[in-house]
Amino acid sequence: MHIPHYNIVLDPKDLTLNDAFNFKCYKGIVCFNKCCYDVKLILTPYDFLRLRTHLGMTTEEFVEKYAEVYIGEVTQLPTVSVNMLPIDYACPFLDKEEGCKVYPARPSSCRFYPLVRYFAVLENGERVEVFKIWRETHCKGHYENRPITVQNYLEEQGLIPNYIYFNDLWGEIVSQRQKIKDIPLTGDLLEEIFLLAYDLDTLKEVIKEDGHPAFTKGDAELPAEKLLEKGLIYIRDELLKEENFRF
Ligand code: SF4
Ligand code: SF4
Repeated sequence: MHIPHYNIVLDPKDLTLNDAFNFKCYKGIVCFNKCCYDVKLILTPYDFLRLRTHLGMTTEEFVEKYAEVYIGEVTQLPTVSVNMLPIDYACPFLDKEEGCKVYPARPSSCRFYPLVRYFAVLENGERVEVFKIWRETHCKGHYENRPITVQNYLEEQGLIPNYIYFNDLWGEIVSQRQKIKDIPLTGDLLEEIFLLAYDLDTLKEVIKEDGHPAFTKGDAELPAEKLLEKGLIYIRDELLKEENFRF
């Protein structure tokens, strides 16, 4: 059955970390799993690393089996999203009886739901973290009597600290790209960004065999998260720095 996502409403109220909202999701709730169909499941570099590591797959294996790689319309950067299954458009990681089969490594968008996080800029220029509640008619978790603060929800969903830290780093790369959005990136540069953000196994080989300007040879032995962190910082501060694009 194809369950389309319609009637999506964002609550007008902005929430901060200390504000509470009402929500509970559990196996047995009447809408169990309805949110796992027909989803645009974009994987940030950290989502991708966690998920493919959990499944014991290389980048190539994961992409071949589950995903699509393309240049994001908004970000103009390499983007990976999970392909829903044909016919019923279920997420490939859904067990229809038990729920999410990759729960410990589920992507950040599944963890945040039903919250949407963004940054607002105050009149004094300060950037503040703001949340909104995203309501879809099929989701009944909003009617459960369980008030929880945003901060506690982020902790409960395992978003703090690493998911948020790495996703914000990727967000800074997206912002950096926006500053030079009218300049197309070369194929070589896009490949390099994909290598550093998503293809860490190949990156390790490159570091060992040819060397890479962002790393020392010894960095090939770093834990994957450290390698990803260094690579993302290099994309933000070196590959996409504005001076490189002034002609
Ligand atoms: S990854 Fe898990 S929680 Fe997220 S859509 Fe797929 S089955 Fe649902
Ligand atoms: S309560 Fe919402 S998030 Fe939980 S299973 Fe139901 S639709 Fe999905």
